[in-house]
Amino acid sequence: MTVQMEAQLMQLKACMYQYSRAIYRSIKDLIDPYSEPGVQLESRRAVLEQCEQTMERLAADPHYFAKPDRALFQDIRRFFPITAQAQVAWAVKEGVGAAVGFIEEQLEAGALDGGVARCRATTRKGKPCQRTPLPERDYCPSHQHLERSLAAA
Ligand SMILES: [Zn+2]
Repeated sequence: MTVQMEAQLMQLKACMYQYSRAIYRSIKDLIDPYSEPGVQLESRRAVLEQCEQTMERLAADPHYFAKPDRALFQDIRRFFPITAQAQVAWAVKEGVGAAVGFIEEQLEAGALDGGVARCRATTRKGKPCQRTPLPERDYCPSHQHLERSLAAA
């Protein structure tokens, strides 16, 4: 892993931490207000932990984590009274949705491809080509002509 990629990953983790705190802040006051203070503290801790775990998993495995908002809601709903469930579900959906959007942007920018080689060409839309280059080449099959023209120059 290059230094640049490590820096990107560190930054990503810091961002995911911010997202998990934001989700937690948006729902913590809805945690069962009638339970004993000790129980409530435990519940808050558990909810925060679940938020963090969800964000960590999302950052580590963005392609294979289906419906992360539903997964998080299922994990934490028992800490909230019936009357707050709809509000919690909405807040989780918003918060996780924002994090997913952020991760997708990072993926598009190529920050998370974990050192997998990508074709060096730029597509007609101006985005980096996401295809795998030919073995020991810098370009994919559809862009291999670029390599030849470079070599010729
Ligand atoms: Zn290409």
